[in-house]
Amino acid sequence: MTTPGSNFIGINVSGTQARAALVDHDGALLDTKVAQFAPRELISQLAAMVEDLGSRGPVASIGGAIPGRVNRQTDGVIAPRDGSGTIIEDLHGELMRATGLRVELENDANAAAYGEFKAGAGRGARNMFYMMIGNGIGGAIILDGKLWTGASGFAGEVGHITIDAEGLQCVCGNTGCLETVASAPSIVRRARERLNRDSTSSLSRLALNKTFTAEDIAHQANEGDDFALMMIERTGKYIGTGVASVINLLNIERIVLGGGVMDAGSLILNPIIQEVKRRAFQPCFEATEIVAAKLGLDGAPIGAALLARDAATD
Ligand SMILES: [Zn+2]
Repeated sequence: MTTPGSNFIGINVSGTQARAALVDHDGALLDTKVAQFAPRELISQLAAMVEDLGSRGPVASIGGAIPGRVNRQTDGVIAPRDGSGTIIEDLHGELMRATGLRVELENDANAAAYGEFKAGAGRGARNMFYMMIGNGIGGAIILDGKLWTGASGFAGEVGHITIDAEGLQCVCGNTGCLETVASAPSIVRRARERLNRDSTSSLSRLALNKTFTAEDIAHQANEGDDFALMMIERTGKYIGTGVASVINLLNIERIVLGGGVMDAGSLILNPIIQEVKRRAFQPCFEATEIVAAKLGLDGAPIGAALLARDAATD
């Protein structure tokens, strides 16, 4: 039973890291926690976090944000994205048994979208599309204030929109998906390929570093490195091409862009908006606000907590 005054906990599991948020009944953020754990200690670690956060007052229920989809009938986890084996299929049942609390599971992109919608860059909108651009590209759709997850829970897979029909093979089986050019590892691959074939780009500081990351590219772009700037700008064009399709399809009020790749800030946001403007149906473009996410890594745990709260009051 939910009573006013009860708190809600959201936990995002990613690899071997768990990030938790405690919110009150009004959605105010009370506390956050981050912990590393060994894969086999997942349940005991999550239960310890719940107990720790529970010391601040009674907890009504828990929301879990996981890298995979959830079968609404069985609450089983489907297709966890990380190959570490950390996310067990019966996470729902085991977590309920370990904590004695009601548990709601949701995909991490959906949870982050809900967090931004209720407490971040989506506030005030009624319809919102969220895109998480990091090691992969995920998305989530909120229509009339609710997550719309589709016929089998896979709605919003914007990372697998085809950008280049002749493009590279994607993990999903298709070729030329947005994820094959704009995810963090894809940006690094494109930058390496270009450094190898274009001698003028060897002036870039990135050419000195054999193991640079997408973060390094963003950092060098911020320092004014022309090559890094060009890579970020072109990535923005690819993302903008995907966003234009979303806008044309949904005529959505707000697009919120999150994930590590967006840490490049306006260097990537501006080319995204320019490309959307160039490609989208103009009346759709004019009705849409395109903004950066606000909650960072806390978006998914906050969203999971708020989903748990709102499921309890449904
Ligand atoms: Zn794909």
